[in-house]
Amino acid sequence: MRFILFACLLLASLPSAALDRLQAEGYLLNNGLQLLLKPGNDRAHVAIRLVVGVGFADFGCADQELPHLLEHLLFSGLDDSGEGGLEERMQALGGEWNAFTSDTDTTFVIEAPARNQRKVLDLLLSAVTRTELTEARLDTARRIVEREDGGHYSHLQRWLDHQDLGKDASNQLAVELGLRCADRASAAGLTLAQVRQVRQQWYAPNNMTLIVVGELDKLLPAYVERTFGELAAVTPSDRSPPALERRSAERERTLIQGWVGDAAKLHWYFLEPDVESLPPAVWDLLQVYFDWALYKKLRLEEGLSYGPGSQNEPFGDSTLLSLNADLDRDDIPQARQAVQALTSQLHRDGLDSATFERLKAGVIARQAWAIQGDSGLADYYWGALGDYEDGHFADPAQALREVTLAQANEAVRRLFADPGYVRVEKPLLGYDELATLITAATVLAALLGLALCIAIGRRRGRRATPMSGTK
Ligand SMILES: [Zn+2]
Repeated sequence: MRFILFACLLLASLPSAALDRLQAEGYLLNNGLQLLLKPGNDRAHVAIRLVVGVGFADFGCADQELPHLLEHLLFSGLDDSGEGGLEERMQALGGEWNAFTSDTDTTFVIEAPARNQRKVLDLLLSAVTRTELTEARLDTARRIVEREDGGHYSHLQRWLDHQDLGKDASNQLAVELGLRCADRASAAGLTLAQVRQVRQQWYAPNNMTLIVVGELDKLLPAYVERTFGELAAVTPSDRSPPALERRSAERERTLIQGWVGDAAKLHWYFLEPDVESLPPAVWDLLQVYFDWALYKKLRLEEGLSYGPGSQNEPFGDSTLLSLNADLDRDDIPQARQAVQALTSQLHRDGLDSATFERLKAGVIARQAWAIQGDSGLADYYWGALGDYEDGHFADPAQALREVTLAQANEAVRRLFADPGYVRVEKPLLGYDELATLITAATVLAALLGLALCIAIGRRRGRRATPMSGTK
């Protein structure tokens, strides 16, 4: 009841609460469900996110598609009208919904008219808790998941994957380093019993967060307490999937992508060092610095690449930071030299302080308009749940402001202490090579043709000799 009182106070002070976007009222229901409510600025609309704490990373390589398969199954319908009937009910309420499974969570995303917010939440709760899981529905969901993943995972595809053909550079390196599963996850062998177990074990209120941003119904807190609040909590079980085995990887590799073309890509990967004394925001700022440094060097000074840039990609507990450039295949050696010179110079001298401060100020300024609208805010809360405490999300601008040049230099020194991993992606042949091959093949064919003509000519000549003798 205490939470309802708080909630009523929140709803009574709507305009002021909407101002600070990082402030959101959070309530922990008795069954462990976390509720986040935020009065928004958009009229007559609510953005709803139900975040369930289960994702691919909670399972071993063979079972990774389980949460994704269950996500699809939960849209298969509440009665004989099936998937279509369920969708019709949402249409009748004027809402739209979808769901996404990631490494860390499964999230149901809804945009709906404010006047129907309780009815929409009713439908969501029914789909999550009352959908009957049957073999026939599992079959359909399995086919959908397989299609989403690029079709049935055949033996040939598995073999091609193992030859690193057609795999992008980040994934190839992550597999080689043992940061991700070698085979693509497949829904093929997963059973109904396994899916039911996932729902039973993970779709528990103490593993869920419900976020509602927008024009909040005054009865919403009482409604949530009466409905979602009635779900039974589940005793948390051991979550850790079997750990992948870390391995060493080749420092340099060329990955063949496609048959013919002059375009190529250079990627230079570095494993982000795990340094507790450095704030996480330092890596965001470094990425912005590298974006600019690569643009300046590879595009403005050397004219080698149109859109060079850097990227941070998490794989489990590790992150690969990459320096990337799109190139002409003939320019690969020159671009490698340029990137090598850049990283060596940064490792030796550190960052240019004026550039660092200018870029940092720009990133901080962008925070002011980075989140737009109630849906954007709901998505932001979803992504930042780990940073929520005492009614407030941590301020990303403040975190960026606190990063010093000395910390950024320390991070660069540690990052480039390792030579990193070079991956070049290019088609099997360039157009020049293809033209040379075609010319060579044409000449060869002409020579063979000529040889054949001569041989036939000689045979005819031999046959003709006795005839000429009889004349
Ligand atoms: Zn899907």
